[in-house]
Amino acid sequence: MKIFKKSVKNNIQLSLIVFTAITIILLWIFQIVLLDPYYHYMQKNAITTAGNEISTHIYDENLSDYLASICYRNDTSALIITENGVQIAYSDMQGKKSYIRNMRPRQLLSTFSPVVTGEVNEILVETLDGESIVYAKRVDTIDNGKCLIIISAQLEPVESTRGILKSQLLIISVALIFISVVISSRLSDRLTEPIKDLSKKTLKLAKGDYRADYTGFGLEETEELADALNYASNGLSKVEDLRRELVANVSHDLKTPLTMIRAYSEMIRDLTGDDLEKRTEQLNVIIDETNRLTTLVNDVIRVSKNEIEKIDLEPETINIKEIIKTVTDRFADTLKEYNFITEYSKEENVLADKKSTEQVIYNLISNAINYTGEDHKIIVRTIEKEKNLRIEIEDSGIGIPKEKIPLIWERYYRSNNTHSRPVAGSGLGLSIVKGALEKQDFPYGVESEVGKGSIFWFECPIAK
Ligand code: ADP
Repeated sequence: MKIFKKSVKNNIQLSLIVFTAITIILLWIFQIVLLDPYYHYMQKNAITTAGNEISTHIYDENLSDYLASICYRNDTSALIITENGVQIAYSDMQGKKSYIRNMRPRQLLSTFSPVVTGEVNEILVETLDGESIVYAKRVDTIDNGKCLIIISAQLEPVESTRGILKSQLLIISVALIFISVVISSRLSDRLTEPIKDLSKKTLKLAKGDYRADYTGFGLEETEELADALNYASNGLSKVEDLRRELVANVSHDLKTPLTMIRAYSEMIRDLTGDDLEKRTEQLNVIIDETNRLTTLVNDVIRVSKNEIEKIDLEPETINIKEIIKTVTDRFADTLKEYNFITEYSKEENVLADKKSTEQVIYNLISNAINYTGEDHKIIVRTIEKEKNLRIEIEDSGIGIPKEKIPLIWERYYRSNNTHSRPVAGSGLGLSIVKGALEKQDFPYGVESEVGKGSIFWFECPIAK
């Protein structure tokens, strides 16, 4: 069984506790274990530095004052004597023990004889009783003689300090552990709360509940995630609404032709008999209705397979006039009852994918048939526009309100207008148009006025 799950919460808590433990260990090592050697190191460093500083001021007129200030700053005693034992300057801290003060010059010279003889240039030693450290350095005097700078510093016992530090560190360690546990649990709660909330709501989304309102609890990253999820859930809910609408619309549109096909088939079987004229007329109705069904089913299949987005379009030189003719031939029977006008420019050849251009013109003309006005007027025209050929499909129908124009290109969008339509629609026609034109980077759009009609247009590059 997995006892310790790798959760964010556990990770945060563990990291903070490890960090605290390392801090405490370091504090104990430096404050307690290394206190003595570190103190010795610091003292040695201080007197060596002081000795070197004095050596650079050995020719100063007010050497005694300088020596006093150095001794005061470093809490040391310092003596400068010639190699013959003549004192040049001396200073110490009043009231403090001093190794130098208790020694006679001769004693000092013999103690540091290797420096006096020039065997070594400097010496740093700890006294046998462990109470002082002494540093001696040999320097040249102004009259080419030699002199010795001797500095001593007191080594204070660190045991009492260590005792105080130990008890303080004990309190600090306990406090640090407590604080780190509290902070890590608060912090991990604060960070995991939005994640838990988001995953709970996303689970609801997966089950089809789009109402969840995602929040990131004020944290930048989770706020961004919440925004993205809100956006996705809005989109999904829109698609779901449109899908429901499509199912309702398509099933309605499927029902009408199916009823007609059934009724006319029964009529032929039971009533028409050998009347050839009547039978042909009724069979034509059945064929028309079958065509409606085919269009509808094709549209649904086309979009559901996302065909336009998947297939590669192949631009070639095509004659737009011929394409329009091919398409209108398919509507020949319907268009008989329409005032269908074509106006062609001189230029007819464009560079575009043949199949998708046919599909675009087909969908736009079928919409014009569906939505044009009482006068049944539809105009298809081509206009030269610099390097492009603009194809316009104009109707004199109901038009589209301005605020609805961006929506009509959306998949499944259909107006609520339920007037009977000569050509079956699925709410997919314009989304197929949009997909095909955008894939080829062709400009497109619609100019429309409610009650007057619409002009749907797109442009293709003229083939030279
Ligand atoms: P469908 O025509 O099957 O409903 P489309 O995607 O072709 O689906 O069109 C979407 C919507 O755009 C239509 O429901 C209609 O409201 C609007 N529309 C399309 N063409 C026209 C037009 N020529 N005149 C008025 N409205 C139109």
